[in-house]
Amino acid sequence: MTEGRAIFPIEPWALTEVGLDRDSLGAHESVFTLANGHLGMRGSFEEGEPVVVPGTYLNGFFEERPLPYAEAGYGFPEMGQTVVNVTDGKLIRLLVKDSPLDLTYGELIDHRRTLDLRAGVLRRSTEWRSPGGRTVRVTSTRLVSLARRSIAAIEYRVEVVDDLGDLYVALQSDLLANEDGPGTGVDGDPRAAAALAHPLQSELAAARGRRAVLVHSTRRSRLRMAAGMDHLIEVPDSCTEDIEASADLARYTLAARIPPGGSLRLVKFLAYGWSSRRSEAALRDQVEAALATAKLAGFDRLLREQRELLDQHWAEADVEIEGDDELQQAVRVGMFHVLQAGLRAERQPIPAKGLTGPGYDGHTFWDTETYVLPVLTYTAPNAARDALIWRHSILPLARERARILGLRGAAFPWRTIRGEETSGYWPAGTAAFHINADIADAVVRYHGATLDEAFDRDVGAELLIETARLWASLGHFDAEHGFRIDGVTGPDEYTAVVDNNVYTNLMAQRNLREAAAAVRRQPDVAERLSVTEDEVETWRRAADLVAVPYDTRLGVHMQSDGFTHHEDWDFDATPAEHYPLLLNYPYFEIYRTQVVKQADLVMALHLRGDAFSLEEKIADFAYYEARTTRDSSLSATQQAVVAAETGHLDLAYEYWAEAALTDLQNLHQNSGHGLHIASLAGGWTVAVAGFGGLRDHGGRLSFAPRLPAQLSRLRFRVVYRGRRLTVSVEPTKATYRLVDGDPLEIGHHGRRVLVDHADVVLDIPPPPRVDPVRQPSGRAPRRRARR
Ligand code: BGC
Repeated sequence: MTEGRAIFPIEPWALTEVGLDRDSLGAHESVFTLANGHLGMRGSFEEGEPVVVPGTYLNGFFEERPLPYAEAGYGFPEMGQTVVNVTDGKLIRLLVKDSPLDLTYGELIDHRRTLDLRAGVLRRSTEWRSPGGRTVRVTSTRLVSLARRSIAAIEYRVEVVDDLGDLYVALQSDLLANEDGPGTGVDGDPRAAAALAHPLQSELAAARGRRAVLVHSTRRSRLRMAAGMDHLIEVPDSCTEDIEASADLARYTLAARIPPGGSLRLVKFLAYGWSSRRSEAALRDQVEAALATAKLAGFDRLLREQRELLDQHWAEADVEIEGDDELQQAVRVGMFHVLQAGLRAERQPIPAKGLTGPGYDGHTFWDTETYVLPVLTYTAPNAARDALIWRHSILPLARERARILGLRGAAFPWRTIRGEETSGYWPAGTAAFHINADIADAVVRYHGATLDEAFDRDVGAELLIETARLWASLGHFDAEHGFRIDGVTGPDEYTAVVDNNVYTNLMAQRNLREAAAAVRRQPDVAERLSVTEDEVETWRRAADLVAVPYDTRLGVHMQSDGFTHHEDWDFDATPAEHYPLLLNYPYFEIYRTQVVKQADLVMALHLRGDAFSLEEKIADFAYYEARTTRDSSLSATQQAVVAAETGHLDLAYEYWAEAALTDLQNLHQNSGHGLHIASLAGGWTVAVAGFGGLRDHGGRLSFAPRLPAQLSRLRFRVVYRGRRLTVSVEPTKATYRLVDGDPLEIGHHGRRVLVDHADVVLDIPPPPRVDPVRQPSGRAPRRRARR
């Protein structure tokens, strides 16, 4: 897949593609995805071609495949899970006299598509002259409903623009299963998806009037899905209609004669559902019922609901940036995609790519709890809660995994769709136990931000207890070093299977302490889980004694035991085209040197900032900055947050741009596989936790705002304990105000202050004075000119 860099005109509330850029086709399909957490539709064209990856996804709907091992070992996962491109309902092919509309033939007079962030729709307008010389304008408005999770709809209009007499057109509106696309296969990148050839087996095909339904199931995972479509039409004159349905294709055909200046309008309603239990008849009925109500509501009502929901979301969550319009746009686009990935996921995971593409096989990772949920916790808390309820729902599998590994409690999978571990590479899979503490951290954050007692009782406490049990059995007490956790992999996947990874140990420490607190809060849960006094005592002792390796000679923390003694990576001898290193060097060489894929110790400085002094943060950041390649798109966000805290505000600003523009500029050259949702979430995170300095250690909300020179103002909102708080940051002062709710105590640069409904205006102290830091040669972020 070759992809260039997309350039979008700068607008505050929209993203527009002007003209057709074939090199950016795949990336644009990802960027123009519409989704609601349950259903995702990539931004491929209605006419089906040109296309790179035509994907339509249903969250949780996957096929299994055996994981091949040249040399298997005990406890290796046997089955992989791969997201399925389900029945495509986006297709509406247009025949203009005798030429099919295809942007790569005939003459493209004008073409633009706009993702509207407030309306929640993808609009398209194409003026095209057919090879036969007839000119039409096609406009469409597509939505995937955030209010009704099974529903999508497309309004499609054809106007005759020339005056060459009546025009005969035919529209074919399809449901197509098992579709192929040029970019659906593996292209040599391990981060792409496994190819699944024709994963759907037909079970039922029915058509009547303007409505059709197809039901399919997967062979191995035995999941069943239904897709249905129905239509409304407005035609100027005479027309003929036809509907048919066979195994993999249902088609509604409309042929019409349009006079010059006339137009034709088609509204296509789509409904999707899937189940592991329900019968084909039940699924068909479900989809038909959803279609009937959507059609009754009508397209305008669907549009209205979408806008109302988004109006409320932006009122509670918007980030306003004065001084950089490009980043303003990018941050909003990122937030929009985070919302689309999680809002209606409900009892399903939030994948690393959301529902925007097949990358990483559609798996969910720690990206959800550590990158996406902080955003959702403070902007759409119910979605964060639902994601954690999904984690809780896979506890039985996580317990079983712990048992297989000879551990206690629960061991959550590094990557999965349904809950089983599906990582075929254990040093960067099973060994990445930190995901368990990341889940615990997300539980604590959500609970602290909402005080949701029912969640704590039914979900949170159990997650904390079972993950604490894992740490207690994974680590051990050592006379010299306290509580050690050996043989694990931290966030930095270029340093695997290490002892005492500081990030892991400090996150485990919080996990253990919070589990002990949960036992106090929820004695009934503790009793049900047979938690003993001794057990809690062990958690406390382990937490107090956890090993945090430090290099006294260099005056910095070691990312893990001995890290600072490893040989340095020869960055000067590493050509630019050899990044990411994982695609160009053997892991054995990467693992034994001081080269860091993504923020690891630096993440600890952010998420466990309460465990470090400012001086330590400054020294540690400088040390790891010089060794970090940012080969993962997850890195820039964390580096930005810590850069901001340690006084490197310009550097933070550059990393912010990198995180927020990752997909809009296709910086990793793989946005066509799907969006980097964690990195997009970083646009919010750098604004709010970086320049806003939001921290929530110990259940106390605090801020330490500070702007980079390029910005004149930053304003953001957070939802906290049933209140809405607005924070407005200018170069020398910050203003806090509650929009509603009881007064709230917050921290501002170390001071506790009470915020109410009147403005509280506070001075911003100057940043610490620090020496510049440097990155590995060739790995500095792109300079960002003042704009
Ligand atoms: C990163 C992981 C991340 C995964 C999915 C990898 O490249 O190293 O930390 O979870 O991508 O985004």
